[in-house]
Amino acid sequence: MTQQRIIVVGGGPVGVVTALACAQRGFAVTLLEAQTEVDRSPRAATTHPSTLEMIASVGLIDEFVKVGLVARYFDFWDQTSHRLVARFDHDVLRDDTPYPFVVQTEQHKLVDIGLRKLAQYPDVDVRFGAAVTALEQDDHGVTVSIEGSGGAEKLRGTFVAGADGGRSTVRKLLNIEFEGYTWPERFLVLTTSFDFEKAMGCSFRSYLADPVEWGNLFKIAGDDLKGRWRAVFPAPVDVDDDTVMSDAEAQRRLNRIVDLGGAPYELLHRNLYRVHQRVAASFREHRVFLAGDASHVNNPIGGLGLNCGIHDALELAQTFAECANGDARAPVLDRYERRRRTLNVEFVQQQTVANKKRLEEKDPEQRAKHLDELAQTAADTVRQRAFLMRTSLLQSVAQGRSIA
Ligand SMILES: Cc1cc2nc3c(=O)[nH]c(=O)nc-3n(C[C@H](O)[C@H](O)[C@H](O)COP(=O)(O)OP(=O)(O)OC[C@H]3O[C@@H](n4cnc5c(N)ncnc54)[C@H](O)[C@@H]3O)c2cc1C
Repeated sequence: MTQQRIIVVGGGPVGVVTALACAQRGFAVTLLEAQTEVDRSPRAATTHPSTLEMIASVGLIDEFVKVGLVARYFDFWDQTSHRLVARFDHDVLRDDTPYPFVVQTEQHKLVDIGLRKLAQYPDVDVRFGAAVTALEQDDHGVTVSIEGSGGAEKLRGTFVAGADGGRSTVRKLLNIEFEGYTWPERFLVLTTSFDFEKAMGCSFRSYLADPVEWGNLFKIAGDDLKGRWRAVFPAPVDVDDDTVMSDAEAQRRLNRIVDLGGAPYELLHRNLYRVHQRVAASFREHRVFLAGDASHVNNPIGGLGLNCGIHDALELAQTFAECANGDARAPVLDRYERRRRTLNVEFVQQQTVANKKRLEEKDPEQRAKHLDELAQTAADTVRQRAFLMRTSLLQSVAQGRSIA
């Protein structure tokens, strides 16, 4: 029997992990990336215990931890009073996972490590500067048209994994609706060398509740491994981009967290982006599947989007492996959507919307109630474990296995 070929569209973290997991299950793999090099812009950075288990399963964990920061704790702060409300300790999960912590590692590092590992497999063809422009499916396979630095070409595969990001060409070619909404406020991301842990005693991942201007604060390793802090804030709809991105505004926002009394924060990077809560109406059309941001997007509070994408990657590779002879009518192929779409809606969409609401709550009574609940949950080991099982997606993995 000839070896089946999986064509993976998109060389982001989800595409690279999908390609690797498929190669490790004996498939020939073609990985197609439209850009000519890896995207190194600051994006997702938090990798939860459930995802660390998956990164270990594809043989990348040691290198991944080495280029990141291990964070055992995470905090909720009341930004209005600069008070620590609750500190959660992943160590309560020590009997549930070999990785009772998160690792703060920039997503492009996962791509780099994954690409190096992929190069060890003889039947893997990785092409940068190769954009997918069209797809045609029949009873035996999929023909993918690509354009790019190598000219126009058609490639043939048994199945296609569309991991080509939020604006997915694959999803659009399949005419699949991206259901949901876009938040009216944009999200401002500021990166600084200032050490918030030293200044305020916060954990490497801290959520700041504030009725006017909530925030996320987290430490990442940086390419030089010297460490830096990233802060995320909402940008009001009625303020223009130039104002939101100005030095004065960046300094004002950071000074609300720790007041430097007039001394400036050293700013390393700033970015403003639109955030959506959307899920593809379907994750599959015959031989073509969607994974990662191509199939779901969400706000970054809780750091769940990319984690869920890596979970898709492993599930999809396993689904292909369980489909004997590459027959597109095999019932197991429908299981991918039953599991991955359901879990995204029930865990990631639900949790990220709730996380945002909890941080931005304006009603004083509701606000006090939310913060009180967090404090009580952190103070009780049983409740804390239940909370962390959910935020780390360990519970979603267990639930996924029970979906036949
Ligand atoms: C500014 C920003 C900040 C973010 N911050 C966070 C955060 O703090 N926490 C968090 O959890 N998430 C965050 N996210 C989301 C997170 O980055 C995504 O969940 C993650 O990148 C998804 O990975 P992916 O591989 O599915 O898609 P992507 O990383 O988008 O990769 C898709 C790849 O497909 C390629 N591609 C596109 N079209 C084609 C085509 N036609 N042919 C071939 N290749 C194609 C693209 O060039 C790209 O390399 C952020 C996103 C942005 C934009």
